[in-house]
Amino acid sequence: MRLYVATTNSGKLRDFAVAASAHGIAIEPLAGLRNIPPPPEDEPTFEGNARNKALYYSLRAPGMAVLADDSGLEVDALHGAPGVRSARYAAEGPAHPVFAPGLRQDALNNRRLIADLASVPDAERTARYHCVLALARDNRILLTAHGAVEGSILNQPRGTGGFGYDPLFFLPHLQRTMAELDLETKHPLSHRGRAFQSLLLKLQRLREQSGNFSF
Ligand code: IMP
Repeated sequence: MRLYVATTNSGKLRDFAVAASAHGIAIEPLAGLRNIPPPPEDEPTFEGNARNKALYYSLRAPGMAVLADDSGLEVDALHGAPGVRSARYAAEGPAHPVFAPGLRQDALNNRRLIADLASVPDAERTARYHCVLALARDNRILLTAHGAVEGSILNQPRGTGGFGYDPLFFLPHLQRTMAELDLETKHPLSHRGRAFQSLLLKLQRLREQSGNFSF
């Protein structure tokens, strides 16, 4: 079985491929993805965006099972923000003195998060990463799966690994930020890794229930 992933992120592809190979599933990037204009990500939920992406890209790859994801950070003290706007958090917010020119998007987002939580005490800085995966073929959703990981937000970055909000996302049970974990530790406990494991289990069940279900 082969799944085509609608991402050009080599880290995500590698993570998915390692987990899928244990289930006899091959993972490949969707061919020509860079030449396809991305669909708008304007749904209010991760699931809505993931489903739209999977349906959209399945129309560009007739007969193929296409996997798409949407993910982000939900901070309780910010009522779930930045949520579906995680990638654009700093860019869409008000101008802020900590936004030095020339900083990359991730650094700007992290600075905005630190600023927005400046008056929030440690015990109330709880947050989670959330990921939704959607699998579609020929404009029909076959499966969706969710994954989440709970943590809290530090007031200064720690660690150099990962991407996005990882240097601020602290895992109390490991006493480390996501940016301080090696990939082998991060993948199975991450929101994306958990969502993918859930998707693989659902896929396996679907194949067992309908013997003629093929890709
Ligand atoms: P995307 O769904 O991969 O496009 O992620 C949307 C945004 O959520 C990213 O730009 C990051 O800001 C944030 N995000 C999602 N997953 C992670 C993660 O595993 N680590 C850090 N940030 C993440």
